[in-house]
Parts: sequence; structure tokens; C-alpha cells
Amino acid sequence: MPELPEVETIARGLANTVVGKTIASIEIRLPKMAVAPPGVDFARALRGERIVGAGRRAKYVLLDLASGRRLVTSLRMTGRLLVQRPGEADFPGTHVVVHYTDATRLSFADVRTFGRMRLVEPGEEWDKSLGIEPISASFTPEAFIGMLSGRTTPIKTLLLDQHRIAGIGNIYACEALWEAGIKPGKPAKALTKPAARRLHHAIVDVLRRAIDMRGTSVDDYVDAEGMRGGFQNVLAVYGRLGQPCARCNAPIVRTVMAQRGTWWCRSCQR
Ligand SMILES: [Zn+2]
Repeated sequence: MPELPEVETIARGLANTVVGKTIASIEIRLPKMAVAPPGVDFARALRGERIVGAGRRAKYVLLDLASGRRLVTSLRMTGRLLVQRPGEADFPGTHVVVHYTDATRLSFADVRTFGRMRLVEPGEEWDKSLGIEPISASFTPEAFIGMLSGRTTPIKTLLLDQHRIAGIGNIYACEALWEAGIKPGKPAKALTKPAARRLHHAIVDVLRRAIDMRGTSVDDYVDAEGMRGGFQNVLAVYGRLGQPCARCNAPIVRTVMAQRGTWWCRSCQR
């Protein structure tokens, strides 16, 4: 499942490849995958639009259009956005295709069909329920400490709450908690200030390193140009059941928290 670093990598790829292009037509093969406001025809509204920017908010890929509208794509479990050249074959599960006037296309493929490509009107507050961006200037240690105070929620569950911090998923929550030496099930309010500062630092560090390595390809994640990421090669705990902890050599364990597999080290995460 793409998390912040993977979505950031896809968005950067799109910034290099599709910005400046004009939409010739939209092909919708599975109608539920393309969502427009009531009374707006998705394909017709986009015809002739020019892409003026590409970016990311939380785990959403954003394409900004010259009219001020925006295409907001959630990839969910298995979604992919792929830039394709003329003559290149479709990927399995291609449901929406944005054809550009230069004959290239952007394919939205999703075999499990949980993802959505959504047309957002100018000024529409589509992201108001999303929390703070963890690699932005507003995510300060103080803001993070404030978020934890009084909360009995396990710290890992809090990290995954998109209404508080947006973009962290299971991989980077596990990795940041290991880096900070904090037990995933610890109640958020029980973290000391130094521990909270350590975790804040670890979150930012893990996400930045993962972006530098173009994301983690433990499943079928590839970026907009079809390339795999590199962070799976340096994971400390995620998916490493039974392997030795790089810090203390104890075997990594896997427990289940809030229905999610949680990998951690019982010996050095306290
Ligand atoms: Zn350890």
C-alpha cells in the first residue's frame, strides 16, 4: 500500500512528465473509479484542460489543472498511476486513462478497485479531515507532543490516524517506532518528552530517507515510470519476523494491533 514516500515519489515523477500537457480525452472503463461533483461529467469537464502542477497531500496524488480544478487520486491498496508512451500495452486493471494531445497517456490501474480518481472544484475543501503533514514545517516536536497528551491510544495506532498525522502507514509507523526505540503498544500519553522528541525525529528521518530511496517496494508498488523503490532493502523491522534486530540482535517479533501486522523488537523497544 503506497504511503507518503511512495506517493511523493509518484507525484515527483508526474511533475517531471505530465506537467504542461493538455488532456485530449478521458477514457473511463470502470465508472466508480472516476468521481466528479454532482452534475459534472468527469470526462467532458476535463477535455482540453492543461496540467499545470503535480503534488501530494497525505497519500493522495494531486494534479492541478489550468482552470483551478484538481484531480485527486487515492491509490489505496493496489492503485498505480503510470505514464505511458504511444503503443505501450495497458497494465492489468487499467480503469481510467487520461489521453494527452501528444499521444502519451496517464493510466490509472488498480486490480482491487479501491482507489479513486476524483475531480475537485476550485475552493472545494476536500482535505479538511486530513491531519498535519509530517514533513512540513508545521510538524514541530511541540505539535507532536501536544498530539500525544492525554491520549490512551497505543502510539502506533495514533501514528496511523490520518486525521492527526497524514501519510504515515504501517511500514513507516513500524520503522519510526523501532528507530526511536519505542514499544508500539505504549499508550501515547505515557511517552516521556524525550521519547516523544526522539519519535518525532525518527518519523521525519524515516520518511525523508524513504523519499530519497524512492519508496518501499515490498508489494507491487512502482512509481509513475514503472520503477521499484529501494527502501525495502534497508527496512529494520517491517516484514522481518525472526530476523535479528540490527541494534540488539534479538529476533524481530510480529504482533497484531488494530488488525495490522506490527513488527518490532521486544528487547530494545520499550
Ligand atoms: Zn532490538
